[in-house]
Amino acid sequence: MSARILDGKFYASKIKEETKAAIANLQHNYGVTPGLTVVIVGEDPASQIYVANKHKTGLEMGIGSEVIRLPEAVGKEELLAVIARLNQDVNVHGILVQLPLPQHIKQYETEIVNSIDPLKDVDGFHPVNAGKLAIGEEGLVPCTPNGCIRLLELADIPVEGKRAVVIGRSNIVGKPMFHLLLARHATVTVCHSRTQNLAEVTREADILVAAIGKPKFVTPEMVKPGAVILDVGINRVGERKIVGDVDFEAVQDVAGAITPVPGGVGVLTIAMLMHNTVRAAQLQQKKMIY
Ligand code: NAD
Repeated sequence: MSARILDGKFYASKIKEETKAAIANLQHNYGVTPGLTVVIVGEDPASQIYVANKHKTGLEMGIGSEVIRLPEAVGKEELLAVIARLNQDVNVHGILVQLPLPQHIKQYETEIVNSIDPLKDVDGFHPVNAGKLAIGEEGLVPCTPNGCIRLLELADIPVEGKRAVVIGRSNIVGKPMFHLLLARHATVTVCHSRTQNLAEVTREADILVAAIGKPKFVTPEMVKPGAVILDVGINRVGERKIVGDVDFEAVQDVAGAITPVPGGVGVLTIAMLMHNTVRAAQLQQKKMIY
């Protein structure tokens, strides 16, 4: 058996179409063009590529996309002042601070993320948005797990009543993934680095989400035949190659459906950032109270 390949580009184009229609509605109903400002500090090469992709996608979709580049040596107070200004700017509907921050201000990451107006927090990392998700009131939801859910919906893969296993418990992927699957009535188990007998747990999964950060960690012995595999991992091996957390070649013979890396969940993440920017603009027009 060879698994159905869930092509991220195809589903991302669907999300972008929906988002473009929502942009047209905002322009028509409120005279508003959604604006996204990405703040990047320093010269980290991977971050530069991520930010360039976000900016390019935003422009392609007709979003007011802006990048603020700050020098590596920028201080915490200066960065907080930039965010405070963006929080007040009515033309900026979404604010994203590209992580990780340089070493000398890394310890302030939480404080900096928490200073973003929750209504403009398009990464969905602010405690208000995380809390909303936890109580089943989706505000702005982190892009990567939300992209996984949208992919399941668009690919007509049922979630209700299924056994779902998430490997990884980070605040940006594992935990929000848990809440999103639970809200859609899956029976969800979250595994992590201290889970015992991991393969026994993962073999129960109808839907298996891998968000670990270890190349080809998930092998066929860990997969229930016919399971749906969502591979969130992005691991650089060597100079140019990127692989996921799942051994794609081997697992595709066991799984029912699988996302490739690259070309899977990563592509959806950027599309969902545009979706979140539009959603943030909608919430601001409706003057939602957070
Ligand atoms: P993280 O390092 O914050 O979390 C990794 C998680 O994996 C932890 O909760 C840890 O407990 C778990 N883990 C580590 N070793 C394990 C083991 N041996 N067994 C079971 N669990 C183990 O990482 P993250 O930020 O959640 O990212 C995970 C992966 O997803 C990374 O490869 C990252 O690059 C990728 N990622 C991709 C996107 C995207 O757009 N596709 C977005 C965010 C993260």
